[in-house]
Amino acid sequence: MTDNIVIIGGGQSGVQLADSLRTEGHTGAITLFASEAHLPYQRPPLSKDFISDQADASALPLRAQRFFEDRAVTFHPGVTVTTIDRDAKTVTASDGTTTVYSSLVFATGARNRTLSIEGSALAGIHYLRTVDDATLLRQELAGARRAVVVGAGFIGLEFAASARARGLDVTVLEFGPRPMGRVLSEPMSRYFTEAHTRSGIALRLGEGIASFAGDGGRVTTAIGTTGTEYPADLVLVGVGVIPNDELASACGVPCENGIIVDERLQSSDPNVFALGDCARYPHAQTGTMTRLESVQNATDQAKTLAKTLTGTPADYTSLAWFWSQQGSIKLQIAGITDGHTDSVLRGDIDGDKFSIYCFRDGTLVGVESVNSPADHMTARRLLSGAMPLSTAQLADASFDLKAYSKSLVPTAESV
Ligand SMILES: Cc1cc2nc3c(=O)[nH]c(=O)nc-3n(C[C@H](O)[C@H](O)[C@H](O)COP(=O)(O)OP(=O)(O)OC[C@H]3O[C@@H](n4cnc5c(N)ncnc54)[C@H](O)[C@@H]3O)c2cc1C
Repeated sequence: MTDNIVIIGGGQSGVQLADSLRTEGHTGAITLFASEAHLPYQRPPLSKDFISDQADASALPLRAQRFFEDRAVTFHPGVTVTTIDRDAKTVTASDGTTTVYSSLVFATGARNRTLSIEGSALAGIHYLRTVDDATLLRQELAGARRAVVVGAGFIGLEFAASARARGLDVTVLEFGPRPMGRVLSEPMSRYFTEAHTRSGIALRLGEGIASFAGDGGRVTTAIGTTGTEYPADLVLVGVGVIPNDELASACGVPCENGIIVDERLQSSDPNVFALGDCARYPHAQTGTMTRLESVQNATDQAKTLAKTLTGTPADYTSLAWFWSQQGSIKLQIAGITDGHTDSVLRGDIDGDKFSIYCFRDGTLVGVESVNSPADHMTARRLLSGAMPLSTAQLADASFDLKAYSKSLVPTAESV
């Protein structure tokens, strides 16, 4: 039988999987299909250093071209897989080729949710997912004076902070009551509201986008749901993503806001797997079906799946962690704070250096840190070791949390 692991998607998780398969000793073929024609690259800098002109495209690739030869990975850049026949175990691609697989891995990521409202097709309205999106946005940013950002999520606010640092007037419209409300604790959202407002960003909370108006085919105004008109020569829309699960669904693999897999990242078909932004899996810490959009999740899932595909079945149990850079604020999150019932703040919020420890029913579930990398690393140790900790201990400023975390017996998950 052909021993060929076919990976669909040449992003963070697909490339890591190809690499880790060789590290774990896979000697058969590996075939990687990537819709984008570029060398696989990192997305996080696109909304940070790249958009601020502090990094150029040469800093983005995840691996050099020679990686594919050195690791004997058959790489098809600019080629999209279009159909899958699970009975014949083949994939057909946009270049007309058909390839047989022994195992098939969806690493297809996600795409931006788009607006279809009046004026949304005007020039000057951007989305940010790919290096091509970022290159165009960066060019237009250079000549812009007034930017409107739709959506106060991570990407919207990272962009807003960069645009403001370049001296643009920046307005952010957010339909919800607080920024990054889906993932951050309420006190942390409040901190960001105040910090961005201090930097001169106009944050309109509770106001969505109703329509856009333009002149000569180019956007000039964003009109909010309150009827307020915001002049704009540049708009960035960051209203979330949709997992790329249609290809899986079309060949009968169950999907629901992502490709459904188990703790081994295996779908209901034992030869078909999914990982990264497109996969919905049972989360080891929360016990709920989860789909995460982060580099850590994509990378660690790839490393775990490589073990399973090389004969050492492994469950995915890694601790989730994430970061964002918004102007001078570096936010790091360890664990998942969603649904927390209590929180304790430690550190100096006025000095922009602090952490918020989030508890659910007496158990520490996540820690959000601002400009405090040491706190973040301590948090990762505490959460990985499931170290018992109370809100009272944390509320005591003299309690040495770092020393306490180091008293843990190191585990494979410790950092
Ligand atoms: C602007 C931006 C900033 C971000 N910042 C951060 C950050 O600060 N921290 C963080 O942790 N995460 C961040 N992320 C999220 C992170 O980049 C993603 O979670 C990560 O890239 C997911 O990896 P993936 O392999 O699942 O998907 P991707 O890296 O998106 O790769 C999927 C690839 O599959 C391709 N593909 C899809 N369908 C097919 C097909 N049928 N055939 C062939 N190829 C296909 C797509 O074109 C895409 O290139 C950011 C994302 C963006 C867009």
